[in-house]
Amino acid sequence: MTNPILIVGGGPAGLAAAKSLANVGQRVTLVEKEDMLGGGPILSGYAKLVPTGEWAKDAIGGMVAAVTVDPLIDVRLGQTVTAFDGEAGAFTAKLSDDTAFDAGAAVLCTGFTHFDSVHTPEWGFGTFPDVVTTTQVEQMISSGDGVKCPSDGRQPKRVAILLCVGSRDRQIGREWCSKICCTVSSNLAMEIREELPDCHVYIYYMDIRTFGLYEDLYYWRSQEEFKVKYIKARIAEVTSDGEKLIVKGEDTLVKRPITIPFDMVVHAIGMDPNIDNVMIASTFGIQLQKHGHIAKEDSYGGMGRTSRPGVLVAGAATGPETIDDSIAQAQGAALAALSVLGAPAAAE
Ligand SMILES: Cc1cc2nc3c(=O)[nH]c(=O)nc-3n(C[C@H](O)[C@H](O)[C@H](O)COP(=O)(O)OP(=O)(O)OC[C@H]3O[C@@H](n4cnc5c(N)ncnc54)[C@H](O)[C@@H]3O)c2cc1C
Ligand code: SF4
Repeated sequence: MTNPILIVGGGPAGLAAAKSLANVGQRVTLVEKEDMLGGGPILSGYAKLVPTGEWAKDAIGGMVAAVTVDPLIDVRLGQTVTAFDGEAGAFTAKLSDDTAFDAGAAVLCTGFTHFDSVHTPEWGFGTFPDVVTTTQVEQMISSGDGVKCPSDGRQPKRVAILLCVGSRDRQIGREWCSKICCTVSSNLAMEIREELPDCHVYIYYMDIRTFGLYEDLYYWRSQEEFKVKYIKARIAEVTSDGEKLIVKGEDTLVKRPITIPFDMVVHAIGMDPNIDNVMIASTFGIQLQKHGHIAKEDSYGGMGRTSRPGVLVAGAATGPETIDDSIAQAQGAALAALSVLGAPAAAE
C-alpha cells in the first residue's frame, strides 16, 4: 500500500485536493492549523461568493462536510507541520503535537493572509470606527445582522468602497493585483444596494479589473441594474468632520480635487502572502518567490511543482487566486502528487 498524501491547509484548495484524491481511493492526511476547515471563505465569514452567488457557508461548507465524512481522509485540526524529511515517495512528517506519519508526497494549500489595513493609516482604518474592510462587510451580511455603521449601529445612507487597498502599491511593498477584489467589491456594492435600496454606493478605482465574463456580470450590471457609481480617482486621505467621513482625492478623469462625505468607507483589502510562508519554506525545504509567495515551476509541463521533488503547491499559496482557480490547481496538483507515488491508487 502506498503512503498517504499530505495536504497542508484546509481551504478551498486543500479540500478539493483531499477529496479528489480520496475519490480515486488514495489515503490523505489533511493538516489544518485552525480548529476548523474552510479557509478564507469560512474562517472570515464571506457572504455570497463570486461568481456562483452561493453563500460561502453552503458552497465551501459543503466541501468541508464531504471531506469530514470521508474515511480515506484523516483530518488533523489545530496542527502545523514542524518537520518534513525524506524524499519523494517516502517522506516523514512531524506535527506540532509531536505525532509523526509517513507521506508519499505533499500538496501545500496554505493560502494567503488578508492585508491588514493598519498599513494604510491615511485612509482612516483604525482611527474611525466606520472605516471597515470588505471582510467586515461580508461578515455583516453573512451573519444576518445587516450592513450597519459600527460606531452607532445606524444604516448607512452613503458608502464608499476604496479599491486596491494593500494591492498595486509599491510604497508599501505590494506590487501585485489581488485579482478578485474588483469583482468582489462590485458584488458587495450590489448586495448593499439590495439590502439598503436608499443607500448610495460609490466605488473609487484606479482601473477596474473585473476580468473575463465578470465585466458584464458585475461591472456593467452593478451600474445599470443597481445604480452603483464608479469614480476613477487617486485617494489622498479619509478624515472626519465629526459627523461624516470625508474622502478626499483627485478625480483622475477630470483632473480635479474631489471631497465627498460618507457614512461608511470600505477598504477592498488585498491578498498578502501567508505570514507563515517563511516557516513553511524552511520546514519543507522549498523556495519562495520574490514577494514571499510559494514559488512554483513556470513550465506548462510542471505546473504546481515547488523547488523540492514530491512537494506540490496550489491555490492562493502561490499568489492571489480565485476560488475556482484554487480548486482547479488543487485538482491538478493532486494528480501530480499521485504520479509521484507511481501506482494508480484504486488499482492497489
Ligand atoms: C474579502 C475577500 C472576498 C473574496 N471573495 C471571493 C469570492 O467571492 N470568490 C472567489 O473566487 N474568491 C474570493 N476571494 C478569494 C478567496 O478567498 C481565495 O481564492 C481562496 O480562499 C483561496 O483558497 P486557498 O485554499 O488557496 O487558501 P485559503 O482560503 O487561504 O486557505 C488556506 C488554509 O490553509 C490554512 N493554513 C495556513 N497556513 C497553514 C499552516 N502553516 N499549516 C496548516 N494550515 C495552514 C489556513 O488556516 C486556511 O484554512 C475573496 C478574497 C477576499 C480577500
Ligand atoms: S482586482 Fe481590482 S481592486 Fe483588486 S488589486 Fe486588482 S485592480 Fe485593485
